[in-house]
Amino acid sequence: MDKFFTPPIKEVDKEGKALYAPYSLRKIEASLVTNGITDVAVIQPERLEKVVSDKTKVIGVSVHDPLGLDPVTFKLSLLFGGGKSWLEQFFEELGDVISRLKKRYNFKVIAGGPGAWELTKSRPDWLDVLFLGEAEIRLPEVVKSLLKGEPVPPIVKGKDPKAEQIPPILGPTRWGEVQVTRGCPRGCSFCSITPETFRSVPLETIKREVEVNLKGGIKNIDFITDDILLYGSSKLRVNHDALVKLFTEVKRMGVDGIFWPHISAPAVRESPKTVQAIAEVAEYDFDRSVMPVVGLESGSLKILEKYMPAKAFPWTPREWGEVIIDATSIMNDNYVYPCYTMTIGYKEETDDDVQDSIDLVQKIIDHDFTAWIFPLPVIPIFTTRIKDNPFPVLDRLPSRYWDLLYVSWTYNMKTTRKLAPRLAGKGLTGKLVKFMIDRVFSSIEWFFRDLKESKGRKTLEFSTVNVNNTLGTIRAIVELSKLSFKKESS
Ligand code: SF4
Repeated sequence: MDKFFTPPIKEVDKEGKALYAPYSLRKIEASLVTNGITDVAVIQPERLEKVVSDKTKVIGVSVHDPLGLDPVTFKLSLLFGGGKSWLEQFFEELGDVISRLKKRYNFKVIAGGPGAWELTKSRPDWLDVLFLGEAEIRLPEVVKSLLKGEPVPPIVKGKDPKAEQIPPILGPTRWGEVQVTRGCPRGCSFCSITPETFRSVPLETIKREVEVNLKGGIKNIDFITDDILLYGSSKLRVNHDALVKLFTEVKRMGVDGIFWPHISAPAVRESPKTVQAIAEVAEYDFDRSVMPVVGLESGSLKILEKYMPAKAFPWTPREWGEVIIDATSIMNDNYVYPCYTMTIGYKEETDDDVQDSIDLVQKIIDHDFTAWIFPLPVIPIFTTRIKDNPFPVLDRLPSRYWDLLYVSWTYNMKTTRKLAPRLAGKGLTGKLVKFMIDRVFSSIEWFFRDLKESKGRKTLEFSTVNVNNTLGTIRAIVELSKLSFKKESS
């Protein structure tokens, strides 16, 4: 895992600070520096032991999914019999290092970030302050108090800054990340992004951050947003001119590729000309296609109306099926291949509701679109309106979930093979990815069929496989190799 999928960022500057860092850490760095706390260093977790000393007063950790409760991690763990995810394992290992260093140097530790809510469920004993929410306004105050030795509550809630109170980053980011919007006004109940907080970042700030990345040698820019078509919008209407200006001005700065992680189907359907315009400016084609995560969520009117009534705006939940089909067609015409995510397992969701979802997925398949579909168990995130819902477990998922999973998996494999030349990339990792696509993933269709037929009980067979030690890893590799040749010999 370390070598292939999470190789450490090795580059450091003359002072030993990370040359490239996740965007969230760059934002924290900028917030502290602009508030007068200038002795700040962004450090790779692997280098902590080399860098921390008796001069270190506070360590801040940004967490994305420390306990493996994120919907994707949770689903994959569930499918393979439960147990600890790699993310949890990595977080524990980092915790051991921090704990050891803390005993020696007696600094304070703050954790925050998108996965900070998970630590309310199980708080590590080395943690002094758990910071929930956006950092710009309150975090500098907290750090100043810690530096002065003043008491700070164990949990601090952030306050949302206005767009112009967000300082631009000072150093380049991993993958050239630059935030263009924050928040989302659609207000889905299961989502931690609350509707009151939507902001578009001023174009001047965006361009300054693009410049910082270009100076750092990064040519491809990845816009951070929950929906690229929200940029510059008011009351959820697409702002065509603002988007074309954003893409055109950033491209003109000498940027090679412009990518983004999220878009919403209703906005695509509302303004196909905007999707076409930004695709032309960014010069998308098959080899430079975009694969954003797009919320498909459910095909059930009952679930859509109860949990996400504004999801389809400017259309109604009743029109959701047509919105998805039209939007997929528009996206594909412009080299945008959506990774649709679905949320399944609401407390009143029945097999009939899941059947509605299967029907919608089948329509996508019948149109032969290029898309992926990932039905994920809905997670009651602590900061959402469904926080009191039960956590999904095998026995509580509607039994037709496994049919939906099977239909989606077989379609996903078809899409993956179609896009394999774009996905595999170059070098050793590219070869490994291609091998996984050609031999391993293509050969385990029977596994998803077994899951479907056993209504998920098959997952329990995998609960004894442990890849956190050498013997377990060798066993897993042998099993994977057997799988990869099973299809050929059968
Ligand atoms: S549309 Fe997406 S980002 Fe916006 S509230 Fe709903 S789930 Fe969250």
